[in-house]
Amino acid sequence: MSSVDNLNCLACDSGHVTKFLNLAQVPVFCNVLWDTADEAKAAPRGDLDLAICQDCGHVANVAFDPELVRYAEGYENSLHHSPRFQQYAEALAVDLRARHHLAGGQVVEIACGQGDFLKLVCADEGTRGSGFDPSFRGEPIADHIEIYGEYFGVRPWDQAADLVCCRHALEHIDTPVPFLKSVRAALPDESTAVLFFEVPNSLYSLRDGGVWDFIYEHIGYFSGTSMTACFERAGLRVTRTWETFDGQFLCLEAHADGQPGGEVEASPVPTPAELVALAEGLSRQLAELLAHWKTEFAKVRDAGGKVAIWGAGSKGVTFLNLMGDDADLCVPVDINPQKRGLYVAGTGHRVAAPADLADEGIKLVLVMNPVYAAEIVGMVKQLGIVADVVGV
Ligand SMILES: [Zn+2]
Repeated sequence: MSSVDNLNCLACDSGHVTKFLNLAQVPVFCNVLWDTADEAKAAPRGDLDLAICQDCGHVANVAFDPELVRYAEGYENSLHHSPRFQQYAEALAVDLRARHHLAGGQVVEIACGQGDFLKLVCADEGTRGSGFDPSFRGEPIADHIEIYGEYFGVRPWDQAADLVCCRHALEHIDTPVPFLKSVRAALPDESTAVLFFEVPNSLYSLRDGGVWDFIYEHIGYFSGTSMTACFERAGLRVTRTWETFDGQFLCLEAHADGQPGGEVEASPVPTPAELVALAEGLSRQLAELLAHWKTEFAKVRDAGGKVAIWGAGSKGVTFLNLMGDDADLCVPVDINPQKRGLYVAGTGHRVAAPADLADEGIKLVLVMNPVYAAEIVGMVKQLGIVADVVGV
């Protein structure tokens, strides 16, 4: 690993930052699919040059160029089509409602998208919700929920808030501490709101072969330690960090009440040194993994078959791009009907719907996210496809 000069950790501000994985010229938008193969192949690319902080374990793409990242129209990363993800979101909402006694209260969601999750959190009698997201399409979703098509914090939030939640936004922000300060500044001084934030869990990507989660759109990858450091530098009091969704996500709760910080209930608690050790092994693991799949693909090719890449989200798109010429026998497939017939950034693969697979001669199904494995095995069987279904 090589150290990076003149660059401080975005989370804890330490200068001890070292590089550990470089993926050159990956598509900037893994979640944007294109209308034609040519457009997809010409999609913008950027370098992924990952570095880890020796002091808090925070991972960042030091080659990140915010200018390259503009959320294009047609951004389609809604995971709500998956029953497994939907169940998770529902259970999370039930947990937040119960633990924070949200019945009759007021919930604010930052980066709420079209309000799907906000609706779940505001399901109790009398709960009101306010969402903020510049990508909001403007269709009202319920009488008790108002969504503003703007960033939170542009103007002070002078109403009550019992819960302020923000899911899967912080990892996109190249100035996380100033962003959190702006959230704190927008809330009243005496605010008793609980702040709930959810991000991808860097431990999962570093530990469990989740290397596919490193995508250009994310500049930062948090651990419990680095997320806590970030919030504390923004003057927030962190009470708890914990894993969800089989360890793929990391959640944090904090308060903006100005009280001094105390003990943080943290689970799991990888030390920064443990995270650094995992990062050091990642380059070699990725090379081995790609070599393994190239060998397996050769067998499928010899048998005259094709490989279904199940999940045309960021993982599937990154995998297709890293497989190079061997990706030519892949058919990306997704259950989200809006992705069908569109093309994958970088490689130009056309996305199929599950029903399209029957006549493709599929001999191998690669599950990009193991969380959905059971769901996918069921669908493959239903389609009458005889193929191995394997996690990547
Ligand atoms: Zn750090």
